Amino acid sequence: MDAVASIPQSTGEVTLGELIAEARRLLAQGGIESAEQEALWILAHAFRLPTHHVITDQDRVLSPSELAVARGLIARRVGREPLQYILGTQEFCGLEFEVSPAVLIPRPETELLVEYVTQRISAERRATIVDVCTGSGCIAVAIARLRPHARVIATDLSGPSLHVARRNATRHRVDERITWVEGDLLGSLAEQGLEGQVDVIVSNPPYISEADWATLQPEVKLFEPRVALVGGAQGTELHERLLQEAFHYLAPGGAVIMEIGAGQARGIRGIIEQMPWCKFHRLVYDEAGLERVVIVERVRA
Ligand code: GLN
Repeated sequence: MDAVASIPQSTGEVTLGELIAEARRLLAQGGIESAEQEALWILAHAFRLPTHHVITDQDRVLSPSELAVARGLIARRVGREPLQYILGTQEFCGLEFEVSPAVLIPRPETELLVEYVTQRISAERRATIVDVCTGSGCIAVAIARLRPHARVIATDLSGPSLHVARRNATRHRVDERITWVEGDLLGSLAEQGLEGQVDVIVSNPPYISEADWATLQPEVKLFEPRVALVGGAQGTELHERLLQEAFHYLAPGGAVIMEIGAGQARGIRGIIEQMPWCKFHRLVYDEAGLERVVIVERVRA
């Protein structure tokens, strides 16, 4: 009798250490590659603790409501929702951006766009820069921070994404410097009086082809906005339309700097050849060696 009584009875209590183990197991079973690391990040977020506290505080007994919140977040990740939507943020150009399912999660290779804009526009210049398909606003905000004298205009078709973008601009104290325009590509810029005035049009438009979209990983296909990803049957439809519209707005010598998908450069060069007002300037490859950025200039003549 005594021996049986001395066996610890389960009180239903769960410690943080036990929850970490549970989270790692569930995430790994769900096919998440960095299950160890993501478990810590998700629990740190759930309990509003720095990650190192999650590691050192493993004996802490969790309340039922803490457990419910944390298990809810783990279940979302097991369902392959992107970690960034669960945590609510993504770093881009050294700045933290709010992200929600209304916007594409900023990718590291998109930082190349910011790099090539700042390469063309010196820090003192009062340049006019338009970011088309701004999404989370990451490009517009990073440029406004790096080029304090530039006028920045950011456009997007999606009203909800512009709300996220504005909050990001406020977070990084550049909201006053950016004009937000809701509309399709450059179609709603008419009232801004920018004809022939724009120094750089920068854009990460949707550029996945309909067929490729079906092959994307579940995080992207099931959760990121399709409208921010799919460009059309070819994938380059929006690049083509953007180039057609750009002529009216670019200053002579101004540039369009666009992100592209691997294998799209050739088709885009073909499109450029049909447009006598512009010339191909440069193709930039990303760190993975893939075609990633095309720079097109308006000829000066
Ligand atoms: N680079 C993104 C991806 O591979 C696509 C971004 C876009 O369509 N603009 O998921």
